[in-house]
Amino acid sequence: MANVIAVDGPSGAGKSSVSRIVGKRLGYLHVDSGALYRIMTWRCLECGVDTDDEAAVAAFAGGVEIECRVEDGHIAYYVGGEAPGERIRTPQINAHASKVAKVKEVRDCITALLRGMSGYGNLIIEGRDITSAVFPDSPARFYLTASAEARARRRRKEEVEKGIANQSEEAVKASLLARDAIDSTRKHAPLVKVDGVVEIDSSDMTLEEVVQAVVDALPEGWKAAE
Ligand code: C5P
Repeated sequence: MANVIAVDGPSGAGKSSVSRIVGKRLGYLHVDSGALYRIMTWRCLECGVDTDDEAAVAAFAGGVEIECRVEDGHIAYYVGGEAPGERIRTPQINAHASKVAKVKEVRDCITALLRGMSGYGNLIIEGRDITSAVFPDSPARFYLTASAEARARRRRKEEVEKGIANQSEEAVKASLLARDAIDSTRKHAPLVKVDGVVEIDSSDMTLEEVVQAVVDALPEGWKAAE
């Protein structure tokens, strides 16, 4: 059985950057589960599915085929042979993703896909329900958080650097908080800090410090590639 490091936390807490670096350092494949919810959202919007209509989203989700490929230290996703790229990172996708992620059928599809990935080898998976619902028995579970201000600052910087958007920090913060509210109050697999996770508040930590804190908390024998 492969080792699975599970990392949850609210939007913009630094889960992707931390998971990517820890994965590279230990030779674990990085899995971005949020990208799968974003892909579902992107397909809904492209195909004119109303994201407020849960029954329509549920019916549509089963037909979305997402292909997973191991590429350069991570699991890459393709739809119809095409990589979605930055099309799933826009403010529009941000505004709809949490609504799509509320739908049980969407969650069931993505949870099954994520569990199947352990066949590819050791993984570090980041998301909202990895520690609580997808791999709740992992001995390496982390809850990464940061203040809303720090999260908005980082997310805005990322959007500007990648040329995705140039919103004010206030607008980015409002969008993050709106998503957090839906993600943590939904019925199915909400974002929660469950017992047994290692909590790291990264507000005043450097990326390297957070990476080291994660590596230090791993079980003996999980750091072989270091
Ligand atoms: O992590 P990211 O911000 O890309 O996730 C986009 C959205 O996907 C989240 O706001 C959340 O609604 C949903 N998500 C989820 N469960 C996960 C990962 C993401 O519900 N494991």
